[in-house]
Amino acid sequence: MSNALMTLAQPVACPQCHAQLAINPKAIGMGAGSWEVQCAACFRILYGGVSRYDVRTAPAYQRLAEHRRQFVDSGDLASVEAEVIALARDHDASIKQRRCECGSQFSIAAKPRCPVCSAVVFESYFHYVFTPATKRAA
Ligand SMILES: [Zn+2]
Ligand SMILES: [Zn+2]
Repeated sequence: MSNALMTLAQPVACPQCHAQLAINPKAIGMGAGSWEVQCAACFRILYGGVSRYDVRTAPAYQRLAEHRRQFVDSGDLASVEAEVIALARDHDASIKQRRCECGSQFSIAAKPRCPVCSAVVFESYFHYVFTPATKRAA
């Protein structure tokens, strides 16, 4: 469980439309200095939404990293849910670009949604979803 939650490009199927997708833990690898933030209503992701190098967002970055550790260790999202929602209430205003082009808002407490049908794909505040590169037919 712990390992799977920190695996890069873990395959996952959309529970609603069954699109073949993949999830990544946030703030890992090349983007480790910032935390991806999702839209509350659609699949769009604000890359660099919460930066560890920005004094306004660094505290939220730190707390999110701690909550993820808790979630990965326990596998229990409910144990961190209240804290993440409180963090969003206090820190969503510091996200540099609040409004998504769909009309909704980016939020620390938004979960990853399917790019095809916008259903929540994975119950986590600490992962984002993407469409894996498809192999071209020979
Ligand atoms: Zn879908
Ligand atoms: Zn949106």
